[in-house]
Amino acid sequence: MLEQSVTPMKTIIEPFKIKSVEPVRFTTGRERERILREAGYNPFLIRADDVLIDLLTDSGTSAMSAKQWAGMMEGDESYAGAKSFFRFEKIAKELTGFKYIIPTHQGRAAEKILFTLVGGPHKCIPNNTHFDTTRANIEFTGAQAFDFLNPLGKDPVAIADFKGNMDITALERFILEKGRENVPLIMLTVTNNAGGGQPVSMENIRHTKAVAVKYKIPFFLDACRFAENAFFIKKREKGYEHKSVKEIAQEMFSYVDGCTMSAKKDALVNMGGFLGMNDDETAIRARNILVVTEGFPTYGGLAGRDLEAMAQGLEEVLDEHYLTYRIRSVEYLGEKLLQAGVPILQPPGGHAIYLDAKRFAPHIPSEQFPGQAVVCELYKMGGIRSVEIGSVMFGRTDKITGKFIPPALELVRLAIPRRVYTQSHIDYVIEAVIEVYQRRPELCGYRIVSEAPLLRHFTARFEPFNA
Ligand SMILES: *Cc1c(COP(=O)(O)O)cnc(C)c1O
Repeated sequence: MLEQSVTPMKTIIEPFKIKSVEPVRFTTGRERERILREAGYNPFLIRADDVLIDLLTDSGTSAMSAKQWAGMMEGDESYAGAKSFFRFEKIAKELTGFKYIIPTHQGRAAEKILFTLVGGPHKCIPNNTHFDTTRANIEFTGAQAFDFLNPLGKDPVAIADFKGNMDITALERFILEKGRENVPLIMLTVTNNAGGGQPVSMENIRHTKAVAVKYKIPFFLDACRFAENAFFIKKREKGYEHKSVKEIAQEMFSYVDGCTMSAKKDALVNMGGFLGMNDDETAIRARNILVVTEGFPTYGGLAGRDLEAMAQGLEEVLDEHYLTYRIRSVEYLGEKLLQAGVPILQPPGGHAIYLDAKRFAPHIPSEQFPGQAVVCELYKMGGIRSVEIGSVMFGRTDKITGKFIPPALELVRLAIPRRVYTQSHIDYVIEAVIEVYQRRPELCGYRIVSEAPLLRHFTARFEPFNA
């Protein structure tokens, strides 16, 4: 437990005061109907200015602190050997314990370097669940990406503490089947973003490590949400309740040989990332690629001020008052929706609530995109932007039979940006979701009128069936 002895009060408050504000723009229901129609009923095509509460993603949408902004002014913009790099490197090394910290402009740039080094045809890379950019970077090299999520993690209503865990038995079976020489790396994503932001236990990290050691395979963390994961370990795993989140995070990193990191998540910045590792030879090769694709090793695609803000963010994110507020505000949203009977993926993850659109709008078949129907209605009702993670994003048409193949789940993600919204914003979201849920029989299906061959969810245009 975080020592709440500061005050005797039970209410968890935003652990900050607001110094600089950004007005949100209100629109009328009629305006939103027009905006939505003009955007082809795709929230990615709505201008941010037309959105009241933006829950599209938690990536790069954090509010920076006064100290981070001060750091922006302090940023040393020297080409080589900038002071800001050394401050960032020191903080990242102290946290992760890695010998080499290689800055990149965002997470996928770190992935690109790593998989250029270890990927390639016939290589197989396991993870609890690969994030889409990780999978894309692996497949781009000709290698294959495999997910080994534990069975509980695949059940949307099962309540468990660590639904992000790797299925260790399946992982070991896979290594034996493929041959260890074809598995150049084991990855573990904390928290498991693609799996609903569910945490991974320290025990599971240790077990994955044991497999990696047994077969002499390097083990890396996809560490984007390392602090949220560490906080869940503190709250849920025996033996960690009295450790600081920083100590827990340090222990997590102590089991691995390296990490990829998107600083747009748990480093509380709008742009940045890094690749960390211990192996001398791999680090030299990684830096050689970095110089060609990102920049000189002491800035790697970032400005000195970005490195300064990242360094500061890596410290602030471990503040337990911040993490209490962070995890609680997501949980609070989930709790209130559940109380109103709204079907969500359980339990709430670290960075988002996922509405279960299959149970939300059971009258809309998968090929008419129930998730998209909920997304559109949430925008129309409250100016809230969310994102469909279901048949629009992952649905496929069988090339031979022409039959539509839906993914296992039809979800709508409400991702919570860090330090951006207050409890009354969340209360407003709760009210809007419940209102849409109560009117769910009125929701109608959608059809796609135009789409791109790849990653169609970004640009597809839709039409409602009742238009
Ligand atoms: C966001 C994310 C990435 C990619 O990071 P970018 O900064 O968006 O390039 C990789 N893995 C996970 C788990 C992520 O959430």
